Amino acid sequence: MGREKRMRIVMKFGGTAIANGEKIKTAANLVMQSKEAAENMEIVVVTSAIYAVTDTIYEQANRIAEEGKVEKVKEFVGELRKKHNMVASVAICDTQVLKKVKGEIKERIAEMEKALIGICLLGELTLRSLDYIGSFGERLAAPILAGAIQSAGIDAVHFTGGDIGIITNAEYGSAQLMGGIEQEVRARIMPLLGDKIPVVCGFTGETKDGKITTLGRGGSDYTATIIGAAIDADEIWLWKDTDGIMSADPKRIKNARKIPYISYIEAMELSYFGAAVLHPRAIEPVMEKKIPIRVKNLLNPDDEGTLIGEGQEKTKKAAKAITLIENTSIVNIAGTGIRSISDVASRIFSVLAARNVDIIMISHGSSERTLSLVIDSAQLERAIDAIQSIHAVDTVIRDISYNSNVCTVGVVGVGMAGTIGVAGKVFSALGNEGISVKMISQGSSEFNISFVVQKEEAYKAAQAIHDVFEMGS
Ligand code: ASP
Ligand code: MG
Repeated sequence: MGREKRMRIVMKFGGTAIANGEKIKTAANLVMQSKEAAENMEIVVVTSAIYAVTDTIYEQANRIAEEGKVEKVKEFVGELRKKHNMVASVAICDTQVLKKVKGEIKERIAEMEKALIGICLLGELTLRSLDYIGSFGERLAAPILAGAIQSAGIDAVHFTGGDIGIITNAEYGSAQLMGGIEQEVRARIMPLLGDKIPVVCGFTGETKDGKITTLGRGGSDYTATIIGAAIDADEIWLWKDTDGIMSADPKRIKNARKIPYISYIEAMELSYFGAAVLHPRAIEPVMEKKIPIRVKNLLNPDDEGTLIGEGQEKTKKAAKAITLIENTSIVNIAGTGIRSISDVASRIFSVLAARNVDIIMISHGSSERTLSLVIDSAQLERAIDAIQSIHAVDTVIRDISYNSNVCTVGVVGVGMAGTIGVAGKVFSALGNEGISVKMISQGSSEFNISFVVQKEEAYKAAQAIHDVFEMGS
């Protein structure tokens, strides 16, 4: 009888799962226990930045570039160092390991300070420097998590995304993987498996010539699935501090519950619609190899969590989950020239793309005299500016108006495809509540219906739909 194949798991710890020293200790113990429980499981750990650190870094980098005050740089990196040292002191019991980790934190902070001073003096923050600065969240967390695992008794080594072969193009902020990197990642990770645990910085990549890039916000999920696919993992576990993927936001919607199973396609639809469950591209790497992803709760590790897999389990429920994108705006573009919709639309989309505006929804009436777009409100100014630039050189656009006080709601479920009356049920539920709908769209996949309502009515709308499809039971 041959030796049984060892389980091979990629475990990603999200920001909330490593929000403080205690949680990092819990995470490290989980890694150790999983390894022991499953006869020497092979584990690759992927880490996010500590909760809220990435946001703070971006905020401060912008402020520093604007204000140009070097003392602010010192103040900020001082605080960041203190925070990470404190977290490390709680997470790591072994004094030798702690000393080494504090040394690493000191080095990283010094690198970061140098870069921030450059940004401060130049008063300019390029996308490339933003990626470099942004990567420090993960690069500060990885030594601490690796140290905590070592302190729990297993040898661990930390790496950046670039170190383990995540090579990307130079689209800073949302870099794309270069072709063929799978073999490279495999070649670098496989020899590490076994007694040691590699701890990889999520979110980060590197160009061919060694410039640090990032994979887009929330990108450590993506790192985990890239690695999982490359090494043919049995499963990918995403550790969070909630029980899994929920039917709706439990803080807002009554009876929201954990969804035990969801298909790749549904999970993708949900992440496109702003549910903070997964990076929108995280499913891609594992689809072909059908590697399951499990979303698990660090505080309730025996729970199965939510399993994301290949099969499209058609439950009795046509719609499974509902998600809300809070701060969105509708932009209406009107004009006689809009008659030739494809020409004007293509110009509008290209100026918006050039300014990095993401379009969430599009609709144009059959009279073809208006085109309406839904975008993130944070991008509204940029979008209006871009559309006006067409207006300035041409007169096809008569009027641009907007409503920045709306929410976009997405209803998701594979059971909706081909089920008659789902849309009717959605909109009569809204009608019964007296909620007026400003815009509607259904993807041709029919796996989602999305619509826009006034912000004040959004939760009521979501609750009504959650109730009518009995998503909570
Ligand atoms: N730290 C990064 C972010 O906040 C990546 C991640 O957490 O997945 O976006
Ligand atoms: Mg995340």
